[in-house]
Amino acid sequence: MPIYEYHCPNCNHKFEMLRKVNEVNPNCPQCGGNQVKKLVSSFGVAGGSGGNSGCSGCAGGSCSTCH
Ligand SMILES: [Zn+2]
Repeated sequence: MPIYEYHCPNCNHKFEMLRKVNEVNPNCPQCGGNQVKKLVSSFGVAGGSGGNSGCSGCAGGSCSTCH
């Protein structure tokens, strides 16, 4: 199960939670609000070396060889 990051606009609380992929957003653990928004996390983003975000498969910046 991936860890998702959520933000509650009600109390401005940010938290992480282990959720199933298609599970609905949890309530805020701080204020109990149900307006929490799922943040875009870095889950699944490979690479990080060289600062090239072109392709995680070939790490060459061009996907012509791996896709
Ligand atoms: Zn809250």
